[in-house]
Amino acid sequence: MRGNTLYIVVPCFNEEEVLPETARRLGDKLRALMNAGKISPQSRVLFVNDGSGDQTWAVITRLHRDNPLLCGLDLSRNRGHQNALLAGLMAARGRADMAISMDADLQDDVDAAGAMVDKYLAGADIVYGVRSSRKTDTFFKRTTAEAFYRLMDRLGAETVFNHADYRLMSRRALDGLAQFQEVNLFLRGIVPMIGYPTDTVEYERGERFAGQSKYPLKKMLSFALEGVTSLSVRPLRMITGLGFLVFLISLIMIVYNVVRWATGNTVAGWASLACSVWFIGGLILLSLGVIGEYLGKLYLESKDRPRFLIQEELGLEEENRG
Ligand code: UDP
Ligand code: MG
Repeated sequence: MRGNTLYIVVPCFNEEEVLPETARRLGDKLRALMNAGKISPQSRVLFVNDGSGDQTWAVITRLHRDNPLLCGLDLSRNRGHQNALLAGLMAARGRADMAISMDADLQDDVDAAGAMVDKYLAGADIVYGVRSSRKTDTFFKRTTAEAFYRLMDRLGAETVFNHADYRLMSRRALDGLAQFQEVNLFLRGIVPMIGYPTDTVEYERGERFAGQSKYPLKKMLSFALEGVTSLSVRPLRMITGLGFLVFLISLIMIVYNVVRWATGNTVAGWASLACSVWFIGGLILLSLGVIGEYLGKLYLESKDRPRFLIQEELGLEEENRG
């Protein structure tokens, strides 16, 4: 029989407005699951403060004082959602038998957590929370997000459709995750690589409870780029294909020009010349950019910098380690 200590890991960046409500709902959920005998009394909610500029850590400290089931992890500075999540999951690893990751803004339906635990108890190692619809998202967010999944797929980065970072991972899956040492972290692409028995739970994604999205368009675009370049080398291969195509076109052009010359038909073609110069120049720059993107990744990976540093822990004392 597998153990049943659950850690709910919640990355928080400037979330002072929603935290009290999130803590209340998650605390209640944890209690209910404990009372139902599904999870052990050692289960906790773990808030990871990702270098917030507001009162987030003070709020977490207060929450922990009032309710010891709510724990905290304070990172040394802002490291981004994915790294904050990883920090929390790695803290849960060794303490918990399963960890559920969830956003702080209550967009992920808390009740789905119970269903995830059920699937874990039934034998799944990874349970993906999959959004059943996106009707609460703005039209813009919905279309860009869906285009994003499609593009990712085309470019060779496999992800679970309509799954964000709401998922349950077993102890064994967390151990697996710990072996993926990459600094360029894109969890929703890495987790499916772990394998083991998986399952999904559908849920309705609500609206942000309070505060503003921490993923403006600019961050979303760089997140998408990060996803593609850290999961797949297909863009590099596409460049090779493109180069081949351009080469083929130039061969045809040479033959064409030779024929025209032999038949005495030479024309002054400034426009076509100028266009092709710009075209080829653009292609070369674009290709160099893509290659540079990978080279930059390689450079960062080779430095092997720590992915996060921990400043303070609340309620994660060593005696809690399982
Ligand atoms: N987040 C974080 N660090 C960051 C940005 C975001 O820990 O640098 C957290 C944030 O507090 C939230 C989660 O990541 O819990 C998802 O962010 P958000 O809800 O703003 O994204 P959206 O739902 O709009 O995509
Ligand atoms: Mg959100």
